[in-house]
Amino acid sequence: MGGTFDPIHHGHLVAASEVAHRFDLDDVVFVPTGEPWQKQGRTVSPAEDRYLMTVIATASNPRFSVSRVDIDRRGPTFTVDTLRDLLRQNPGTELFFITGADALEKILTWRGWEEMFGLATFVGVSRPGFELSDTHLAEIGDGRVHLLEIPALAISSTECRRRAAEDVPVWYLVPDGVVQYIAKRNLYRPEGSTRLDGT
Ligand code: ATP
Ligand code: MG
Repeated sequence: MGGTFDPIHHGHLVAASEVAHRFDLDDVVFVPTGEPWQKQGRTVSPAEDRYLMTVIATASNPRFSVSRVDIDRRGPTFTVDTLRDLLRQNPGTELFFITGADALEKILTWRGWEEMFGLATFVGVSRPGFELSDTHLAEIGDGRVHLLEIPALAISSTECRRRAAEDVPVWYLVPDGVVQYIAKRNLYRPEGSTRLDGT
């Protein structure tokens, strides 16, 4: 599952858990993006912070892990490179790429999409506020994209950042350790302001 994870939240974790269960996956690898090319123009937190929050959020699940392939590769992140690197590191593995309905809508604009669908099976999951549909994906071969309804969590990283910036709680939207990491590193706060108690 690729994402900016700025910060990782329970919507990401439920999506991963549901897809793992329904597709009987052995593991879910969370892959924080390096430079997210679609998010150029807005400030993204340092890759190490996003990586560590992802590690904290997934540490207790033996089937979840985090890969550094995208943050250690120079330049902007393209999913086709992510899939190639993961296959190189895990030869013979069958890959599934988990994506929310909003990202699925734009997938044909991703660089190297023709090759991408040969490297992994894509699973598009429902997300409140977006329509889950693959009608625009008709040109992709049968069985390469699956759609899955998952429990709806209307949580976004954008909303979590906004809340943290305005001193509104993010408890229960993100895992406890991530709430505390955001406070400890003073992420998303207007410049110059600090908050030490994580509330
Ligand atoms: P931002 O608001 O910064 O774009 P985000 O909440 O969309 O953050 P991303 O890191 O951009 O999170 O998303 C990573 C992947 O997780 C994408 O495929 C996205 O569609 C999916 N996703 C994010 N939030 C949810 C959610 N609440 N339910 C289902 N899928 C989600
Ligand atoms: Mg997003």
